Amino acid sequence: MRAMDEQLLADNIANLLQRVRRSEGKSQYHNSDILVIAASKGHLAEDIRTAHACGLRHFGESYLQEALQKIEVLEDLKPVWHFIGPIQSNKTGPIAHHFDWVHSVDRIKVARRLSEQRPQHLLPLQICLQVNISGEVSKSGITMEQIPTLAAAVLALPNLKLRGLMAIPAADSDTDQQREVFGRMRDALARLKALAPDIDTLSMGMSADVENAIIEGATAIRVGTAIFGPRNR
Ligand SMILES: *Cc1c(COP(=O)(O)O)cnc(C)c1O
Repeated sequence: MRAMDEQLLADNIANLLQRVRRSEGKSQYHNSDILVIAASKGHLAEDIRTAHACGLRHFGESYLQEALQKIEVLEDLKPVWHFIGPIQSNKTGPIAHHFDWVHSVDRIKVARRLSEQRPQHLLPLQICLQVNISGEVSKSGITMEQIPTLAAAVLALPNLKLRGLMAIPAADSDTDQQREVFGRMRDALARLKALAPDIDTLSMGMSADVENAIIEGATAIRVGTAIFGPRNR
């Protein structure tokens, strides 16, 4: 695997930010800056360094071993690291130590372990609950009905800070289906805010559906391919 051309990466980021701005302009729900998380799984630490030089500060990783190597190599940059992949409960320790955010919490056991293992000198781990919005058997995530129970559990844990919800809609959904699903997530977040008013994050939107996610109220997008090109792990 070779490092990406720096100009190409800079152009990709500029194009993405333009898509973000345009979609913000079309959204009636948009009211704060969109958090752009570069989903860097399957890409080189070198490319993350270039993306950082282009102004990106938030990076999302899905595979723990791969992530830990990059976090070590990129120590000097001090980016904000987001864990966005499935979590095995015996792997929570390194996540609690090395990440700032976790978007994929879907079990009380995992939440409890992340809180127990979060070092005291660090800020609380920022948490999103992953919702399996399209009801796909293959995907992780809780159902809409399970949100209040898991949210209450996370709110009670001392070293976690509940920030909101994350979803990945079915890959084959068309634009209307995407809008409908994202809209349901927005409604779910509104209900969650009734439990804890400082909940503010709706993590949804990837390379192919950034526009629809933002129009429907996303506050954080996780974008890989549109920034770094195709993944080849
Ligand atoms: C890889 C990944 C993304 C980014 O996907 P792209 O389609 O490449 O933009 C977003 N979210 C999660 C959870 C991912 O694993």
